Parts: sequence; structure tokens; C-alpha cells
Amino acid sequence: MVKGILNAIIQESNAQLPLDTLYLRDGESAHIRFLTKIGEGVQADCHRMRSDTGRRWIWKLCPGESLCIYCQKGNRPTISMFFLVFVYSINHTPYSANRNPMSKQWTALQENGQTFYKETVCRPMILRVGIGKNAVMRKRLVDMSQKFDDLTDRDYIFRRTGSELVDTEYTFEPRNPSPMPPELTALKDALPCMTDIVTNEDHHTG
Ligand SMILES: [Zn+2]
Repeated sequence: MVKGILNAIIQESNAQLPLDTLYLRDGESAHIRFLTKIGEGVQADCHRMRSDTGRRWIWKLCPGESLCIYCQKGNRPTISMFFLVFVYSINHTPYSANRNPMSKQWTALQENGQTFYKETVCRPMILRVGIGKNAVMRKRLVDMSQKFDDLTDRDYIFRRTGSELVDTEYTFEPRNPSPMPPELTALKDALPCMTDIVTNEDHHTG
């Protein structure tokens, strides 16, 4: 679908470091391709807090309790996992479309009787998910990587349901296997390694 224009897009996106972190609201989904295998993912302690505007939750890396201003304020870190993904598109809810001036460029579509607004993204982003209660999300990703050849052999639909920390659930719906587009392999090779990307990021939304 986008293969013919990937090279041009990738040249543009290479200039856009640091990478954005993929953010979904309740009910939204993204069409993604993992660029990092499970073993290349990074796990780190992070603090969750309100952004300066107070409108979003953001995540800050914890440099370790003795050095950390957030730990000293009593904010307890939780463990997050980070992966590099190529985001083809995001299906936004009407709620998001109403709040984003860019939504004029999005395409309305129907899915299961609901209206979504599809944004063509086509750039690499950071995927951040918590390891989950009793590490259930980490186990799910490891199981998926064993079943589906290290995550990178197919596209996924990454979906969020719920709006609060206690009820938010992220799921990955595997698509049929397909070869990794060579442009995406080249893109991944051109980007810094995952550890550098995550430690250089100042904050992570979502
Ligand atoms: Zn800390």
C-alpha cells in the first residue's frame, strides 16, 4: 500500500529524532510493524506524571533512586518496556478528531458500526507499554514472539481499551505473515540502538 513511497518518507523521518512515542486514547488502534525483535526491546523504570499542561500523562526515566528527583518526591517508578515500531496508520475516535486540528486530513471510516478517523502516519515511533500486573503484558509479548518468529514477521493491530491506569488494556492482533519490507530493515539499521533511543528521550507520552 505505502511501499512505493516508503523511501521518501524514511528519508524525512530520519531527520526527526528524537522519535515520538505512540499514544492511543481509549478505543483507538494503530497498524504497526515491530522493527525490534523481543530481545532488542528495552526495559526501564519509569515515573508516570502529568505533563506541564496537565492534559496528558507522561513518563520520565528513573536514573536510580539515589539520583532521582521523582523518587525523592515519593513517586514510585514502574517498569516499562520499549520497542521500535513503524506506524502505518492510527484509527482515531471522534473524540480525538474533535480535538486535533490535523484531523481534517484524516479519512472517516466505519469499523464494527463505529466511526473512526484514519491518520496515515508512516514513520518510526517508540512503543511503550508497562509490563503489567504480575508482568502479564511482558509474558504476552514473549509468548507472541515465540509463536510468531520474534514479532517482526508480520504486522499487528495495536489497540487500547480503557482510559484509566486500572482499566487500560493494550492488545496486539497479529495479521498474516509478510516479509519485512527492505525499506524498513534499512530504516531500522539507520536508527540509533534502542537503549540509546530510550535513554536520550526526555519524556514519553501515553
Ligand atoms: Zn526514580
